[in-house]
Amino acid sequence: MYQRPHVLIVAGLDPSGGAGIQADIQAVTALGCHPLPVVSCLTVQDTCNVYGADAIAPELIVRQLECLAADVQIHAIKTGAMGSAAIVEALARFLADRREIPLVVDPVIKAAGGGDLADDALVEAMKQYLFPLADVITPNGIELAQLAGLDDIGQAAETLISQGCPAVLATGGHGTGPKIINQLFRPAQNASRWAIIRRGGEYHGSGCTLAASIAAGRAKGLDLDTAIDEAQRFVATAIDSPMKVGRGQPVPDRAASLPGATPAQ
Ligand code: PLP
Repeated sequence: MYQRPHVLIVAGLDPSGGAGIQADIQAVTALGCHPLPVVSCLTVQDTCNVYGADAIAPELIVRQLECLAADVQIHAIKTGAMGSAAIVEALARFLADRREIPLVVDPVIKAAGGGDLADDALVEAMKQYLFPLADVITPNGIELAQLAGLDDIGQAAETLISQGCPAVLATGGHGTGPKIINQLFRPAQNASRWAIIRRGGEYHGSGCTLAASIAAGRAKGLDLDTAIDEAQRFVATAIDSPMKVGRGQPVPDRAASLPGATPAQ
């Protein structure tokens, strides 16, 4: 018998299988960890957009978390779409005496198609209760600007850090230019920068995949920079094997690096 590092995932279900908790489960598994999935919300969604989302009752989520924690060691946590402010607050209470577990927060606000995955109260709850507990948050440019109320990436990241967020990985996938620039901002340190070749186009679930992969690295004991390195390579490999699932964005194939995976046709 053997063990794998355990990654608790609290995220929404995307029935198209492109983003959300399925993306997280696939990434975490491919990177050698065992996922512990807790669904925060169910969405009505295809590969083009999100048309609705219903949050799970926070009491049920608390029961799932407490039940799991009594039985299983949690080595890292990844959050995605959170469903409601009440779920964020419940998770923050669960985490209050588990500060040693690395927490990667993907502050999901909108789907790429424009559909909402968070209301104002949820965004405020993430800022107030979840960000201060995070190892790192992973906003894309649009989310970062909305969270900080500023368009400049550096200033926006500094603002969130001054409000108590320990680290911000500002991802550049939604930008333009031949390279995607991801920048890691931490207090009193120069930003670390990664320049990744832009494949072009948008890929459904790439943000989820990146954040889940970072959590997998942290669960395996990698430091944050190394976990980000590994995660970016994993996302690039998945994007290099884009799957056509529906009429909308292609889905990065998170099984592409697994032994036995057949090349995409
Ligand atoms: N989580 C859920 C449940 C979603 O439906 C989506 C997008 O549609 C996301 C997260 C964010 O997806 P992405 O990784 O493409 O930013």
